[in-house]
Amino acid sequence: MTRIGILGGGQLAQMLTQAAISLGLETVIFERSPDSPAGRLTQHEIVGPWDDGATLARFATCCDCVTLENEFVDAGVLAWLEDYGLPVYPSAITLASIQDKLVQKNRIAAAGLPVPAYRAVATPAEVLEAAAALGWPLVLKARRDGYDGYGNATLRSERDLGPAWERLARNGRALLVEAFVPFTNELAVMVVRGRDGATRAYPVVETVQQNHICHVVRAPAPLPPALTEQAASLAVRAVEAVDGVGIFGVELFLLADDRVLYNEMAPRPHNSGHYTIEACVTSQFENHLRAVLGWPLGDTAMRSPAAVMVNLLGGRDGASNPQALRQALAVPGAHLHLYGKREVRVGRKMGHVTALGPSLAAAESTARAAAALVQLTG
Ligand code: ADP
Repeated sequence: MTRIGILGGGQLAQMLTQAAISLGLETVIFERSPDSPAGRLTQHEIVGPWDDGATLARFATCCDCVTLENEFVDAGVLAWLEDYGLPVYPSAITLASIQDKLVQKNRIAAAGLPVPAYRAVATPAEVLEAAAALGWPLVLKARRDGYDGYGNATLRSERDLGPAWERLARNGRALLVEAFVPFTNELAVMVVRGRDGATRAYPVVETVQQNHICHVVRAPAPLPPALTEQAASLAVRAVEAVDGVGIFGVELFLLADDRVLYNEMAPRPHNSGHYTIEACVTSQFENHLRAVLGWPLGDTAMRSPAAVMVNLLGGRDGASNPQALRQALAVPGAHLHLYGKREVRVGRKMGHVTALGPSLAAAESTARAAAALVQLTG
């Protein structure tokens, strides 16, 4: 039986494993701590640091092909697995060109794609120089290891610089600064690209962020075709620019003048693609597996006019003890997903609800009604 090794054992690896089982595949989960959401679903759970030579070698012997569920794996780990002789997707080179946001933006800009104005900054004085050139507000970002906004700070004026620099530049982290984009909407596009370079884009979706965390995804984005075509083409070209193989989540900004700018991409299944499980002919998870195995890509079309996904986010810290599931499941048309995380933290992604419908409004009211009923901490 073909075994897919996955670096990481969170909910993305869990949903990849669910798709793998349907295709007659097994997954090997390599996570830093035991009892991860995906580790619990497989017989092949390897626990330890990703960069520990002996553990990595043990993982390698169990796998026929390797992928990842989070981009915080060092590209050197992927390079080691490639040298060992395994097919690894995304490749070490692709990961290296994404996991540093400065390198990523350089790559996307070099491909001729529109990005917000940005520059590397090594000192607070260089942020002030950037402000003189680009104007306030600015967004200060850690070049590596940021997620759900934890590596970002919006600077409205010089007054915000000190605390933001202190927080983000801690431990010598490298930073970049970019112009604040006065976007009207945030969009995202899942793009799957095969080993042969064939690409398919899923419908362009609208994502709604609160405190930098995705709350709601509306599919398809309620926009004129000319705009969605522009967004989809930008996303496909971005994935080609990093020679990506597998599924990629590409995040975009839509401006009032109908321009679309690139924000960032994730080289893996993405929260903005969870709706594809019920709403598309082939889910993002199945298409990722097809792509990394060199199999034919599946149809990315939607099966209903509209779908909305609402995240179940932790409201307070505590042991996970989901309640009112009966009530949520009694909402007709609500598809409930819980990730089985043991601990709830404020803002942590604990699950999601997807609903399909004849319109975005109908789907959103179903998904929100069910999501509002679930209590995560009991
Ligand atoms: P993360 O890697 O933490 O997801 P992002 O760079 O995607 O970080 O930023 C998270 C959110 O912060 C974005 O979804 C957007 O809402 C906001 N944001 C990021 N960059 C900018 C920008 N240049 N201008 C305005 N808002 C931004």
